[in-house]
Amino acid sequence: MKRHVLENLMTMMSKLPGFGPKSARRAVLHMVKFPHQLMLPLAEALKIVAEEVKLCSICQNIDVTPICSICHDQSRDPTILCVVESVSDLWAMERAASFKGRYHVLGGTLSAIEGRTPESLQLYKIAERLEAHPEIKEVIIATNATLEGETTAYYIVDMIRPYGPHVSHLAHGIPIGGELDYMDEGTISLAFKMRQGF
Ligand SMILES: [Zn+2]
Repeated sequence: MKRHVLENLMTMMSKLPGFGPKSARRAVLHMVKFPHQLMLPLAEALKIVAEEVKLCSICQNIDVTPICSICHDQSRDPTILCVVESVSDLWAMERAASFKGRYHVLGGTLSAIEGRTPESLQLYKIAERLEAHPEIKEVIIATNATLEGETTAYYIVDMIRPYGPHVSHLAHGIPIGGELDYMDEGTISLAFKMRQGF
């Protein structure tokens, strides 16, 4: 195998969240020991996910169907909508299993520095959803307790007030600067129970 082939793989791996050059090198050197048991199945799994995963057209979760399994699930409460920053936050909520309503995934927070605007985040989609679904009576804003998360939360609250839902915010037993994905399930459940009105 030509060396640059390995370097190319390590460079790609080092761009993954949680990886740097050192951990990418370790991962690649581990994988090459198991080409048939690990590398080829991994390559196949990556190909399948790359080809089949899509954004849910309703909530922007990811799934292999155009409408995700949560939006499909008729047993979930259609009167409560929880707004989260990312798919990983949604999954953290699902692991905590304390929320049985529907979601909206923002895909980021407002940031003047990073150039993320209400338009680029398509925040109007939340208003559109409230307009199309007057059965939504409560919106829980579960953005993270960072400056950008709070700024985004206030923007959304102002935008959706005219639609009249009760708006609440996850209680911040969640530490300042905390991200949902790193919380244990108990903390997330408690934050839901203690949620406060805006
Ligand atoms: Zn969905």
